Amino acid sequence: MLTSKRYFKVFGAAVATIGALSGLVACSGSSESSSDSEKSNGLVTVYTGRHYGIEPVFEKFTAETGIEVRFTTGGDPELRARLEAEGANTPADLVMTSDAANIALASAANLLSPVESEVLAEAIPEELRAQDNSWFALSGRLRVIMSSSERVTNAPQTYAEVGDPQWKGKLCLRPSTHPYTQSLVAGLINNVGAVEARKIVDSWVANNPLYINSDTDILKAVVAGDCDIALANSYYLGRLLSEDAAFPVTLTWPDQKGNGAHLNISAAGVTANAPNRANAVVLLEWLASKGQKLFSDTNNEFPADPRVEAAAVIAGFGSFIADTKSVRVLGELNTQAVELLSAARYE
Ligand code: FE
Repeated sequence: MLTSKRYFKVFGAAVATIGALSGLVACSGSSESSSDSEKSNGLVTVYTGRHYGIEPVFEKFTAETGIEVRFTTGGDPELRARLEAEGANTPADLVMTSDAANIALASAANLLSPVESEVLAEAIPEELRAQDNSWFALSGRLRVIMSSSERVTNAPQTYAEVGDPQWKGKLCLRPSTHPYTQSLVAGLINNVGAVEARKIVDSWVANNPLYINSDTDILKAVVAGDCDIALANSYYLGRLLSEDAAFPVTLTWPDQKGNGAHLNISAAGVTANAPNRANAVVLLEWLASKGQKLFSDTNNEFPADPRVEAAAVIAGFGSFIADTKSVRVLGELNTQAVELLSAARYE
């Protein structure tokens, strides 16, 4: 099962979004005093960079376990900086990210604590968790080629073909500041080396892309005719298709004869200074097992556990090969990816 390339089954579901800072936890309190009372109250505190659809997931967890979840949302790097600043006084027990590099960077900064758990080891494939078990993927999303269903009949089949001159002035991309772009390029570096990766990125830049810092807006720009093709995460199309089954954007799985579609993950790890480590482990195990389907379905993502069936709306995308072998190295290649994007003058 754990080959370097793995077929995901295909799926879909409804999407919920949440307001920022729901259940915000004051960060100035003493973690010592909160530790005892919160443990007896059955509380777990989560910092999450994954914003989509987490409320119903946490509600279900609380209903099943009696453990209340408090959570704070923010960007992955922002929450990592906050954990670092809070040090031993952090109220956070579990950190969740929407990007593989950012969870790996949290681990590299010694902000996470390994969890040895049979439940997690059984549910989450080896390539989708840290070597030291300091983080675990919970779901996967693919950064894929999107094209206008109305105007494009010859969509690119590879990331390199996105740089074909025929797409000049017809390409939408996410800016280089976004983790999704950085991890995509880190994956290219891992697969084809820095020199080839630079050539690919150069060819994208030569197509004079329209940079838009929202995948949803990117897909809407494809429909509006601002561009014909784009790179975006699979779940955004799943979300738009569940609102409008006729949404005229077509997904192409890239690099199916090569390294596979770029796989990024939603991931979680128990913090190094968790005031309530025991409950954090309970939540993490639940998200990887009983809660796995709900967690994935609420954002049209692919469950990290390949035994769990994904939701229906993305079933129409068909089966595919994902680049599972790059997931663990996206963090260590992040700096190189950022430098490459900058050198290529990718905005
Ligand atoms: Fe996203």
